[in-house]
Amino acid sequence: MKLKGGIYWGAGCGGCDVAVLDLHEKILDVAEKMDLLFWPIALDFKYDDVRAMEDAEFDIVLYNGAIRNSENEEMAKLLRRKSKTMVALGACAHIGGLPSLANYHTKQSVLERVYLETESNENPDGTMPLERSTVDGNELELPRFYNTVKTLDQVVDVDYYIPGCPPVPEQIFSALSAVFIGELPPKGSVIGAGTKTLCDECPHEKEEKEISIIKRPLEMIPEPGKCLLEQGLICLGPVTREGCGARCINSGVPCRGCYGPLDDVYDQGVKMVSALASVLEPKEEKEIDKVLDGIVDPLRTFHRFSTAASILRRKKV
Ligand code: SF4
Ligand code: SF4
Repeated sequence: MKLKGGIYWGAGCGGCDVAVLDLHEKILDVAEKMDLLFWPIALDFKYDDVRAMEDAEFDIVLYNGAIRNSENEEMAKLLRRKSKTMVALGACAHIGGLPSLANYHTKQSVLERVYLETESNENPDGTMPLERSTVDGNELELPRFYNTVKTLDQVVDVDYYIPGCPPVPEQIFSALSAVFIGELPPKGSVIGAGTKTLCDECPHEKEEKEISIIKRPLEMIPEPGKCLLEQGLICLGPVTREGCGARCINSGVPCRGCYGPLDDVYDQGVKMVSALASVLEPKEEKEIDKVLDGIVDPLRTFHRFSTAASILRRKKV
């Protein structure tokens, strides 16, 4: 018997769906084991097809993207009801991802920026999206835009997590293979990625050097083969789960933290503050402040992918 699967996107960029397509010929192995009954980005199935299914009819659903509007939430709840196993695929579903950076703003300020202030926009009448409107006598309804972006597990029960922005395709394949052979770890586990930090799989050499200056990637060309953090670039490798193959690091770009924290870490960004504090060279407050001034936007640097899952969650309004 073939398994029944579904893939859905909430508030995301589509990159996680492309990562599934990046399985290349391995997608044929997946198709041999599983019928994809729902995948809006690639196949023409309708929401009503899902509504008509039995509860728990899907063996597995991969949900990528965060929850940022009422449609994302409605579909997350529907797919949860229709699936035996629900997997959060990618950083947005797992820890909020880049969309949850919007939690540092209000819903109103996001809409004003996008529809009224953006330099490339022409909107002389100041038209803004409405939840309900009438056009040529027809009632139109748009999903409700939420003030706070949430992770998938802040809305429904999630069985497993595949981290990354996007997850590397090999990791998606190994997670699906575990489903096919019925060898899944305990509920709530991260699957397809390791249990150590990125520093453990990073090929760059650490010299246990303390940091006396912090720079942005555009301000320097890092010395090849040497730890980027020790050269003064903020690299979230010490607080980020391994599994990506250090792809950014190998291109000279510091880790931004998209694979999220390890199991025993509650807040990845706060953990990075503590990791950084332990490797700063200056010990006097004034000197420390001078070094830290090199971090242009600490909040969004340390919680770039994890704002929705952090203890901050959102800006207080
Ligand atoms: S995790 Fe990254 S690739 Fe996936 S939907 Fe979110 S932004 Fe796109
Ligand atoms: S801090 Fe970054 S560059 Fe340094 S070892 Fe860890 S992952 Fe590699």
